[in-house]
Amino acid sequence: LDLLDHNEQIEELTRKFGDSPTLGMSFDNEQEAYQYYNSYARGVGFSVRKLRVNKDKNGVIHKREFCCSCEGFYRKKTTPKKKREQRRFGCKAMLGIKLNRDGKYVVKNFIAEHNHDLVPLSSSHLLRSQRTIEPSQAGFINQMHHAGLKPSQIFSYMTTEAGGPQHLNFIQADCNNLIMRKRIEFQKRGDSQCLLEYFKQKQAQDKSFFYSVRTNMENEICGCFFCDGKPRRDYAIFGDVLCFDTTFKTNNYNMVCAPIIGLNNHGQTILFGCGLLDGESTDACEWLFKVFLQANEGKEPKTIFTDQAQSIAAAIIEVFPNCHHRLCLWHIYQNAAKNLGHVFSEFQAFAKDFKSCVYDPEIVEEFESSWEALLDDYGLRGNSWLEGIYALREKWAQVYGRDHFCAGMTTTQRSESINAFLKKFFSRNLLLREFVVQYDKAVADRREKERQAETSTKQKWRNLSSNWNVEIEATTKYTSKLFYCFQDECKKLLGLRLKLQSDDGLTRRYMVMNSGMRGMSRSLTYDLSDQTVSCSCKKFEFEGILCAHALKLYHELEFSTLPSKYYLKRWSKEATCDVDFDSNEEVPLSTLESSSMVQYSELSHIVQRIIAKGARNNQTCTFLKSELLQLEAKLEKHPYFGDEHDEILDKHVSEDGDNLKLRDPKIQKSKGRGKGRIKSSLESKPSKRKGSSKRKG
Ligand SMILES: [Zn+2]
Ligand SMILES: [Zn+2]
Repeated sequence: LDLLDHNEQIEELTRKFGDSPTLGMSFDNEQEAYQYYNSYARGVGFSVRKLRVNKDKNGVIHKREFCCSCEGFYRKKTTPKKKREQRRFGCKAMLGIKLNRDGKYVVKNFIAEHNHDLVPLSSSHLLRSQRTIEPSQAGFINQMHHAGLKPSQIFSYMTTEAGGPQHLNFIQADCNNLIMRKRIEFQKRGDSQCLLEYFKQKQAQDKSFFYSVRTNMENEICGCFFCDGKPRRDYAIFGDVLCFDTTFKTNNYNMVCAPIIGLNNHGQTILFGCGLLDGESTDACEWLFKVFLQANEGKEPKTIFTDQAQSIAAAIIEVFPNCHHRLCLWHIYQNAAKNLGHVFSEFQAFAKDFKSCVYDPEIVEEFESSWEALLDDYGLRGNSWLEGIYALREKWAQVYGRDHFCAGMTTTQRSESINAFLKKFFSRNLLLREFVVQYDKAVADRREKERQAETSTKQKWRNLSSNWNVEIEATTKYTSKLFYCFQDECKKLLGLRLKLQSDDGLTRRYMVMNSGMRGMSRSLTYDLSDQTVSCSCKKFEFEGILCAHALKLYHELEFSTLPSKYYLKRWSKEATCDVDFDSNEEVPLSTLESSSMVQYSELSHIVQRIIAKGARNNQTCTFLKSELLQLEAKLEKHPYFGDEHDEILDKHVSEDGDNLKLRDPKIQKSKGRGKGRIKSSLESKPSKRKGSSKRKG
């Protein structure tokens, strides 16, 4: 539409004034004269520059000269530093206008001849003065960029829509410049300052928004944490287990992205908030954990997963003294692959044996003996990496973790998906202010996945595997995802045999065995007073759903309903029903991200709908075109026409007496660490030096 508009304008001007300027030709205003000369220049094949202007003391233009961009010569000091071709060689072509008494501008001077070659019409779109991105196109470009499209993709789309690059009124470089403008603006105003203003603005609009910023002695930002109301509500329900991953570097200053991650009732990864830290020092982590507690009414998690950095472990002991600290197995696997690469490649069975040593043992002795066997079988005695992780076994071997609820966070696929997720939204060179925008997108993505899971739990009928009433009951309690986990256990019942070992009137002990030869037997303790059962596999303690062994007993005893303690609220359909965030507390994006973008998108929805209807045949197309042009003319007469949103400056965030301006962290040279992931600290041996974590608060 813009393009059409542009071409039409040219047509209109030529219709009005003819092909070529003549002396005495008169224009309503200076802008019209420029447009006319520029459209003439397009036809001839040169680019227009504004040369001289004479204004009176009221700012009214009396004289104006437009010239060919090849006018004049570079004086020495204005010669561009970069080696580039001379573009000025004293061309005399120009158009001069003067204000007449009747208020019109009249052509007083016109030189048509150029002293250089002219550009053919087919390339005239490349001429500087022919290239302008219309505001509506700018809106569209910014929107596509916001949606994550690369500048090259955006430009490719726009050229396709225009019917080829020669029909487009700007080139790739103009498009790139437009996209970069916002970033440059952030940098110019101070990235940290922009971030702080963004936080303040958000908090002004959303009372539940929480943030905290940490600065060092030089008043540079060295840490921040932020979250809004939803993650805080989520944390109240699902805050039993969390994962703290600091291995992702993400921005311009090499700060560490430190998302705090949890699992919801659909078993999905959710974000409890995000920190940015200047490193993983104990000091930095302690600061973050304390701020996190502050945001969440001091509620400590039960279990926290991290990678193996001693500094983090120390911070956990300090801030979450009652919390069970586990090491993320994904990181251990990653490191095993690096450190024991030769073993993995030499022995096919090693991976399986290693895994079963990590996951399978149910008693410590069993773990110990399988570890010893691993060392012997593969000749790994004395391997320093293995010795290092063995010393930390209580933090990663499942046998030590079975009493601690982990909601299924231990699976390596989980960490992997968290990593893929972070990669999708955060690239290496983000500014702080860009980072929070990306984070918002990441949150929106999670929220949408959550809505999908909620909908599927509500709408889909679950297939039963038996007619046992407990299974039916479970469909009414669990979310869809958790129900199928539960059902997997139910399906195992047929393969199990139960044998009573002892019964003292208060408790009964059973042995549960697999019917086949494979699989180990478990022992059950059944408490007759409250009808609860505990199993040696500890699946319930660990994951929060009953194991097949315990279910076998309830099935034998013909229970039609399970004791309610076995349905954890955090896995239930109703877990989040108390507050409906979609209708109440979620702040609409529109008020947060530049409102002009939202308005643009709103209008373009309507216009596209109209265009689709209008473009069906020639008659409706002609009708629509003339109506739209009339509408445009009307719009231009609107009293507020011309007032623009300032989408870069978040204007209404006031200077509130904080005259101390935040400074940006120093930009660190990246050491080519690949794709945004920093070396896990398992690699670098935990340093024993004290004070290796510099105090910076
Ligand atoms: Zn020229
Ligand atoms: Zn069990």
